[in-house]
Amino acid sequence: MAELRELATSAGADVVGEFIQLREKPDPATLIGRGKLQEIAGAAASAQADLIIFDHDLSPSQQRNIEDELNVRVVDRTQLILDIFARHARTREGQLQVELAQLEYLLPRLTGRGIEMSQIAGTAGGGRGPIGTRGPGETQLETDRRKIAGRIRHIQQQVEHVRRTRAQQRRRREAVPVATVALVGYTNAGKSTLFNTLTRAGVLESPRLFATLDPTIRAVQLPSRRKVLVSDTVGFIRNLPHTLVTSFRATLEEVQRASLLLVVSDVTSPVASEQDAQVEKVLRELEAQDKPRLRVLNKIDLLPGARRDALEDDVRTVHVSAIRGIGISALLERIDGMLQQDALSRVKLSVPQREGKALALLEGSARVFSREYRDGFVDLDAQVPESVLRKVRPFVRD
Ligand code: GDP
Ligand code: MG
Repeated sequence: MAELRELATSAGADVVGEFIQLREKPDPATLIGRGKLQEIAGAAASAQADLIIFDHDLSPSQQRNIEDELNVRVVDRTQLILDIFARHARTREGQLQVELAQLEYLLPRLTGRGIEMSQIAGTAGGGRGPIGTRGPGETQLETDRRKIAGRIRHIQQQVEHVRRTRAQQRRRREAVPVATVALVGYTNAGKSTLFNTLTRAGVLESPRLFATLDPTIRAVQLPSRRKVLVSDTVGFIRNLPHTLVTSFRATLEEVQRASLLLVVSDVTSPVASEQDAQVEKVLRELEAQDKPRLRVLNKIDLLPGARRDALEDDVRTVHVSAIRGIGISALLERIDGMLQQDALSRVKLSVPQREGKALALLEGSARVFSREYRDGFVDLDAQVPESVLRKVRPFVRD
């Protein structure tokens, strides 16, 4: 139930009540029993709830029967997760995959209503009559089904197209030696909050370079002045419904490309170890289990002061509060230290003062420890990324 609550919150819901039923066998018509249904109806009415979420898959007819009984919209776990994916899918491919999953979810539900419609038509008119005697529901249904099937085919073609263009874009991006850091972890761990905090902390002077990328990827400047791309991802979910695996994966492509994974979890979560196991499982499925990673324990602001003071970072773990900005500069330093790309070297340089471009490049893209001015030269002691060093090589002193 804790997980369902988190998922519901992620989808933007306010939880006003929770119910559990233990039953030998599910009721074929309504999943839960009649008494429980009435209890929920009463509670929903008094809390003015406008949505009931079942942590169990509902058949199309069960869903309809419960809705009729409760007079409130009813969704199941799959629908809830689809909704969360739809909110998170910001890449074109992710959006297409989610829409595909939504349509595939919808199709049998239309069929369900269709069976009912043709049965009604059947009892009333003795089976399929001549043209014009079929129920309006059935005609409409067939049109809807055809439309949806057509849309599904159309989306499948688009997915292929988008995959190709994305691969091209990625190759172009990879031509520049910029590493990607992906935020992964369970839903509600605080990934998106951390993403925003990190991208605000590492303000970049020329965001135009990356302006065409999708909004779940942003450039961040590390303390070494190297740039990295940080990628926010959709949260992992325990027991992901089978039908959603493809759309889930499509939203996680950046994880496979990443040089470093930040595995974010909520320190206050009562089911932390279970979630860690799930994260491992998903990373294995994505063949990303061997990537360098850093554990980020988030929401330390919620811990009592004494416990918070006792926390210590180690080589694999940092503690932060994404919302309060606690531990963020330490985290940026750690990311910096773990990245192999665009290796840093400490050098001494003598740059003629008239070399304005080289000086600006060093000030903007290297960490300068000291600078001295003498006879038209600037002497610098700096830590310089490989990509910058190539451009200022003539000024390096040996
Ligand atoms: P995501 O699902 O991993 O992207 O998680 P979100 O970033 O959407 O955050 C989930 C919830 O946790 C939101 O209500 C955030 O406001 C909250 N949250 C995130 N980081 C922190 C934090 O450091 N402290 C506290 N107290 N709440 C946080
Ligand atoms: Mg998020």
